[in-house]
Amino acid sequence: MTVRVRMAPSPTGSPHVGMIRTALFNWAFARHHGGTFVFRIEDTDKERSTQESLDAIIDLMRWLGLDWDEGPEVGGPYAPYFQSERGDRYADALARLLDGGYAYRCYCTAEEVKERTKGAKVQGYDGHCRDLSADQVAAFEAEGRPGVPRFRMPEGSITWQDLVRGEITFETQFVPDYALARASGDPLYTLVNPVDDAAMRITHVLRGEDLLSSTPRQIALYDALKELGIAEQTPEFGHLPYVMGEGNKKLSKRDPEAHALAYRDQGYLPEGLLNYLALLGWAIAADRDVFSMEEMVAAFDIRDVNPNPARFDLKKCDAINAAHMRLLSVEEITNRALPYLKRDGVLTDPVSPADQQLLELAMPFVAERINKLTEASAMLGFLFVEEADFTLDAEDRAKLVETDDGQAAVQAAYDALRSCEPWSAAAISDALTTALVEEMGLKPRVAFGPVRVAVTGRRVSPPLFESLELLGRQRSLGRLLAVLS
Ligand code: GLU
Repeated sequence: MTVRVRMAPSPTGSPHVGMIRTALFNWAFARHHGGTFVFRIEDTDKERSTQESLDAIIDLMRWLGLDWDEGPEVGGPYAPYFQSERGDRYADALARLLDGGYAYRCYCTAEEVKERTKGAKVQGYDGHCRDLSADQVAAFEAEGRPGVPRFRMPEGSITWQDLVRGEITFETQFVPDYALARASGDPLYTLVNPVDDAAMRITHVLRGEDLLSSTPRQIALYDALKELGIAEQTPEFGHLPYVMGEGNKKLSKRDPEAHALAYRDQGYLPEGLLNYLALLGWAIAADRDVFSMEEMVAAFDIRDVNPNPARFDLKKCDAINAAHMRLLSVEEITNRALPYLKRDGVLTDPVSPADQQLLELAMPFVAERINKLTEASAMLGFLFVEEADFTLDAEDRAKLVETDDGQAAVQAAYDALRSCEPWSAAAISDALTTALVEEMGLKPRVAFGPVRVAVTGRRVSPPLFESLELLGRQRSLGRLLAVLS
């Protein structure tokens, strides 16, 4: 059997990290088995689906390198991959389900159902219209009542071997006959999702635990679709654990860390984010957290996924990202930081040859100190800014520069550097150490902090002596002078 899995997002709202985790596990499963990763857009809900959300999902998938074999932009043998373009297939399946008696029209209003089922043991629809006679149907139709197609759940129980959670059984008496479409004929998720999985020959459905309750309904529907010749097989199912946020609540749209696009904006590496998301329910080994996607693909077994809820831990995510940063060469970090440096206005686009040269000289001191790509902007800003626009961090200035000790240190640094020859990090180090540490008797931290803030604008910067060398004598002295009141 060739593995065919899919990721089937609904393009409503900003993509959630849980959605990306689902995409990643499907992708890794497909790649591990040499199978096919299908990307299908479930945009049946016209009111809630937006182009913006769709663009964001596609963008993210591309950025993360979760490449799909069939779907938007690449096409494939089961096109179209947008549910909004597959209406005739759903209409056909629905007509055949109704004809075959697998589904029936229900004429009840929501109020009527509620009234009848007050205090009942089973919540939801009570199957009232299951066995209406032809006359009853005709009478409801004549009244002009809308008829909602409902699936006739079989009696007994439904059991499947969940790939993550083991054997699961639902008694169908607790699974009410459910709507497949609106009375208008607009199909619902309950119908379109299995019809498409069948049409696209999906072999394994790996999705979030929140969809667990729809699985017994879908398995029953598959049986009907198979009898009708619409489906060939029922896929296997695996339900991935919930992702929990703070306070052991499900990570929701309201939690800022839930939004997957924010990680790109904040300069996380795609491989860092994917590595972290992989840990939400899976581990490559008991004592190992950092791995590449190639390693994940080689090792991934859906049966190893832990069914217990996974906790989203931003600190851990940062640490994993930092570990991936350490694996990159300075040149690679430079290339990847470039778009952020331009976005943040540190560099112009295109970069001038002089700036390019300065960037290459500076990056070796920065690359090993940053944990996210955006931190390069904060670290390097002081080198590329026009003197007229150079400002100091207000808090660092007040604490380190505008004190008596700070002023004394900057004054001494200014005096020592005026005659420093040559203008090299080594000579600068000698001059400042002699003047501030040896002659004034200051502790290095007390001595150099104010100088650092004066020339780089902040307490956190590339190493001081190298920063001064890169900045040049004239600009360095100018900035020291500027803070001496
Ligand atoms: N469109 C559904 C969702 O985003 C897909 C569910 C599934 O994977 O079956 O929740």
